[in-house]
Amino acid sequence: MGASLAYHLARRGLTDVVLLEREALLGTASTGRNAGGVRHQFSHEANIRLSIESIALFERFEEVVGTPIDFRQDGYLFLLSSEASVTEFKTSVGRQRRLGVEVAWLAPDEAVALAPGLDTTGVIAATFCAKDGIADPNGVTMGFAKAAQAAGVEMCRETEAIGIDVHGGRVVGVRTTRGRIDTPIVVNAAGAWAGQVGTLAGLGVPVRPLRRHIFIAHPPGPEGWTRKRADGSPELVAPSSRIMVIDFETSFYFHREGANLLFGMGDPHEAYGFDTTVRWDLLPDVVEAAVARLPILADTAISHAWAGLYEVTPDAMPVIGRATALDGFYCLAGFSGHGFQHSPAAGRVLADVITGHDPAFDLSPFALERFAAGSSTGEGHFV
Ligand SMILES: Cc1cc2nc3c(=O)[nH]c(=O)nc-3n(C[C@H](O)[C@H](O)[C@H](O)COP(=O)(O)OP(=O)(O)OC[C@H]3O[C@@H](n4cnc5c(N)ncnc54)[C@H](O)[C@@H]3O)c2cc1C
Repeated sequence: MGASLAYHLARRGLTDVVLLEREALLGTASTGRNAGGVRHQFSHEANIRLSIESIALFERFEEVVGTPIDFRQDGYLFLLSSEASVTEFKTSVGRQRRLGVEVAWLAPDEAVALAPGLDTTGVIAATFCAKDGIADPNGVTMGFAKAAQAAGVEMCRETEAIGIDVHGGRVVGVRTTRGRIDTPIVVNAAGAWAGQVGTLAGLGVPVRPLRRHIFIAHPPGPEGWTRKRADGSPELVAPSSRIMVIDFETSFYFHREGANLLFGMGDPHEAYGFDTTVRWDLLPDVVEAAVARLPILADTAISHAWAGLYEVTPDAMPVIGRATALDGFYCLAGFSGHGFQHSPAAGRVLADVITGHDPAFDLSPFALERFAAGSSTGEGHFV
């Protein structure tokens, strides 16, 4: 988020910008641990709009921003196994189509044709958007950061924001572990730590950290993700494309990652917190759900796993825009597990707001003040 915003500010001619990163490298927190998924298939109109704009930039990223991002549009396939989910998706697919997104309803056997190896027992229907896909989070972060830096933005790594100075109801500076910066504007793009940065300014920013795991499975044998049928012909036991498959009821998802298969699943009992230690005790439950949908996973070895943090708001919608309670304080945070894919549009929108341009985007669903008003409609396709 910080790199995208810096890039878009620089494009609007605002280069007196400093990006603070407390780690030694950019993109090593949530962005460096995500699954790379990019989809149009959200329920909230504002999120669908962020996706449409972001995907348009991902499609031309190397040409426009200057760095390859290995964006492959092999689609997202949602598997729906309850009438309640089908009803909810009918509403959101209608919304996506009204906004010009092509989404198809598929029968279970059509889903298997797209994602070989699937077991669709209990699946009532599936949705598929061919323009969804997978991109490289490091490429996107470094692309934005390098282009911003080339335009004059300063990147301060190993520099932590530890205080925000306020005078007369407005921001006047940021204190860091390497000194103070005078500034009338500060943007909270601290991901899962956005609540802490809000506290530095005396503001409640309700973003909470939630651990999520990713597991990597090796192919079952030397023939990769194929096995021989009785007649000797090869049969795929997992997709050869990079299609993202999401079992919506369990939240189990997977996609091909090079020669391997990447998969994950949320734990509904996970407590909020900053711990990113891998909980191997989760694996049996994840594997049970995984094998039910992709049986070949029973024969594969899990080579490694990692955990990262979602940055979750109460309605799973981000906070983008100016805080009305403090002049000069802006938020670009709380993307609730969808921030990698929404970074191009979210950074552009906020850059327009900061530089006084019309963002041509209804920002009310993203307002910080919505939480106090208690009147928000959240994102339903939270995975
Ligand atoms: C397992 C997993 C899978 C995911 N899969 C997807 C996916 O498929 N698609 C998708 O779109 N999203 C996915 N996400 C979510 C996505 O990773 C996040 O939404 C996104 O990375 C948020 O970007 P960010 O820039 O806001 O946060 P971050 O990448 O966490 O960046 C925030 C930065 O702020 C720095 N920071 C914090 N506090 C301070 C401070 N006080 N001073 C200086 N620096 C500070 C941190 O070091 C960090 O580098 C996934 C997340 C996880 C954990």
